[in-house]
Amino acid sequence: MPITVVGSIAYDAVRTPFGERERMLGGAAVHFALAASFFEEVSVVGPVGDDFEEQHLAMLSDRGVLVHDVERIAGGETFFWKGEYGWDLNSRETLDTRLGVFEGFQPKLSERSRESDVLFLANIQPSLQLQVREQLPHARFTALDSMNLWIDVAREDLVRAIEGVDCLILNDAELRQLTAKPNLVSAAREIISWGPPAPSVIVAKQGEYGAALVTKDSFFALPAYPLETVIDPTGAGDTFAGGFVGYIAAHTEDDWGDELLRRAMAHGTALASFNVEEFGTERIERLAGEEISARVRELSEITSFSGAPLARLQG
Ligand code: AMP
Repeated sequence: MPITVVGSIAYDAVRTPFGERERMLGGAAVHFALAASFFEEVSVVGPVGDDFEEQHLAMLSDRGVLVHDVERIAGGETFFWKGEYGWDLNSRETLDTRLGVFEGFQPKLSERSRESDVLFLANIQPSLQLQVREQLPHARFTALDSMNLWIDVAREDLVRAIEGVDCLILNDAELRQLTAKPNLVSAAREIISWGPPAPSVIVAKQGEYGAALVTKDSFFALPAYPLETVIDPTGAGDTFAGGFVGYIAAHTEDDWGDELLRRAMAHGTALASFNVEEFGTERIERLAGEEISARVRELSEITSFSGAPLARLQG
């Protein structure tokens, strides 16, 4: 099923302990679309400024991403984000966020983007996520990502946007912040209990520890793929979301059950692991489908164990 994504299309300045880039292609919608393009056709919705380079649109098109709803705003500046990571890459400080062309942007979706069965509202102002959601009232699977900034400055709009989707994908700390609950599982179930309408699937991203999946009656978790070298985690969450939602889009006919969601988690995890091996989109741009499948197989092996025979316990 074809996918539409709205979210930041950006230039990022990033410093990690292993190097830096002053201006690289980034943005939540870009990382998502590159990952999801391995599974289904993805249309990206969002503005860029005069400064956005043609070669970056061409690279997305070469990967099969539809870019006709990427609107170039004359006189505008492309969204810019600057961040720096601590030595173990678990902590990140945002040094600058410039919304640029996203300020006052009114999304006008083409018929192709409105006809998608699957919608991903990637990280951007919640008011914009709401506007795009309204233009796809009949989408069959909808998911949303956000971040602490929007929980702080636009909570009301964000809660409305979350109530309008099937699946919420957030960092574990953001889930706790959003619900004011210290426990991850109870935070996730709290959001499910907002409904209907509310998401029935919650994915908690946990960085180097992997990701957890919570529904009303089930729980599943995967570790991150064990890498010895991580260079730049920027966009890992969006790349995970692209693999997760992309897999669901490619394999869902009517409903999404636990088994399908678990395989989707494995594909998101595998894709995210490639993303962090190099800066920005560098690794994913030259990734091949068989590399993803090989890592999904490895993940399946390293996470499987047999419960039998059970230990003979004292007491
Ligand atoms: P992640 O590492 O998955 O959290 O995503 C990082 C990407 O999110 C970067 O490429 C940034 O351009 C983008 N980003 C950072 N801050 C924001 C924001 N406030 N709104 C939308 N996108 C953002």
